Amino acid sequence: MTQSPIAPWSQLDEEVEVREAAATSLKECPQVDDFPSSSPWLPDSLPDGAIARRILAAAPWWTLVPLAVAAVWLAIDVISAGIKGTDVSTAHAVGILALILVGGSLLFASRNAQHTALGSIRRAISRKTKRDPTFLEDPPLSPEFQPIWQALKKHTENIEHRVATVLEQQQQLNLDLSLADKQRRNAEAIINSIPHPLLVTNVFDQLILANAAAETVFGFKCKEALRQPIADLISDENLVRMIRQAREADSRAAQRRADLQIGSRTYALTMSPLLLERTADASSSEGHGVVILLRDITQKQDAAKMKSEFVARAAHELRTPLSSIRAYAEMLVDGEAGDEKTKAEYYEIIQTSADRLGRMIDNILNISRIEAGTVRINKEPVAVSMVVKEAVDVARPQAEEKDITLTEELTPVAFRIMADRDMIYQAVLNLLSNAVKYTPEGGKVEVRVIPHEENRTIAIEVKDTGVGIPVEDIPKMFEKFFRVEANKKMAKGTGLGLNLVKNIVETIHEGKMTLASDVGKGSTFGMVLPLMS
Ligand code: ADP
Repeated sequence: MTQSPIAPWSQLDEEVEVREAAATSLKECPQVDDFPSSSPWLPDSLPDGAIARRILAAAPWWTLVPLAVAAVWLAIDVISAGIKGTDVSTAHAVGILALILVGGSLLFASRNAQHTALGSIRRAISRKTKRDPTFLEDPPLSPEFQPIWQALKKHTENIEHRVATVLEQQQQLNLDLSLADKQRRNAEAIINSIPHPLLVTNVFDQLILANAAAETVFGFKCKEALRQPIADLISDENLVRMIRQAREADSRAAQRRADLQIGSRTYALTMSPLLLERTADASSSEGHGVVILLRDITQKQDAAKMKSEFVARAAHELRTPLSSIRAYAEMLVDGEAGDEKTKAEYYEIIQTSADRLGRMIDNILNISRIEAGTVRINKEPVAVSMVVKEAVDVARPQAEEKDITLTEELTPVAFRIMADRDMIYQAVLNLLSNAVKYTPEGGKVEVRVIPHEENRTIAIEVKDTGVGIPVEDIPKMFEKFFRVEANKKMAKGTGLGLNLVKNIVETIHEGKMTLASDVGKGSTFGMVLPLMS
């Protein structure tokens, strides 16, 4: 029999239980110290009622000879006195009494000798237990007690040997037990640290192992769920059916994979056969357990969906300026632009569309590089007011064209942030350019740099008196390609500028975008960035 690759909880539990039981039974075994110093088979004194019986039983046969002779003599004397009608002679009576006394003395001496010998043996054993457990000293014994002592000694040594062996085994078992327990706790910690739900079922489709993540997803407590049919624990019939099919399939079959929807989450399911009792023929019809691992791929799927939506949207948005370039170029080629003025108009349209296309491609590339984490970031101490001033200077001609008053309120250059200078410049310029684009002629655009020293941040705010943004559109303002329908006529755009700003501020600089707007009154776009310590 081969060991299963993962020893499941229940199996480990059984192993530990067996070892614990063995260790307990060993603890109950007699220990050297448990043997009484005064043993019941070596009494200090004999009970009164048993003295005569024991003396007779333990006395050597020859000690009984005088008593037997006295008894026979007495019997003969009594019988012959009865026949003759005379009394037992005094001499005979004295002789019989003397024999009884001699016999009694012999018995008493024999019993005494025995008692002394037993006492010596008891003391020898007691000395060994108390003083030197390894040495059994021979007590002074008369020759007739030597065989008894030798037999006893041998027996004691045998018991000692057995106890030593048992103690050694107990020690080994205790070691094995703590090792098994440690292994179990390690395995438990490893399995519970797997962030993906993991289940293991046996040949009867019962749960034999589950980790903490599985408990959360399926809403059961592993301890109570062990050995329960999986169908009683998992409400998703699809999953139960798949587990059953995987269990019924040939154990040599490769892993089974499937995607599974549980509630609002999507999981990638991997089911592998688990041979708990592997037989010589692994494909035996006895069946096998199943290891089920679920990976939450909801986020991945959402990202993939968003990516493909982005690609579709980008393709669509790119097609607009491209179609315009193609159409006007064709008209020019076909000679449809008769006069120079029309030609110049067509050229300008082509140029504007090409610029837009270029801007779009740049923005798409910048955003996807930031999102993919492949953009090169060059962070350095940057004086916020300096960057803002630069952007304001660049936007000023555009504002003047529309007769928009552009003002700035800056802070001392001492307020610095750790940032990629070009990226922050790009972000501020995008906000400024939008403010000018979506503010009617004669309006006002105000840029303010506001330090918040109490929470070590600095805010850059761009406030305009423009068209504003409808309240329902505000949550979508930073989405890719989103453009406010009502403002489309005011300016051409890609719908990517604000998303790029948000990525620069939040993803790269750990800042926060803010937005407040009132339709018809204007908008305030802001970015809050952490100040340098
Ligand atoms: P673009 O300006 O190229 O369309 P943006 O991502 O910069 O792309 O802006 C997205 C949309 O947000 C714009 O189309 C516009 O409708 C709206 N918007 C941005 N800034 C302002 C603003 N200051 N005032 C009003 N609307 C704005």
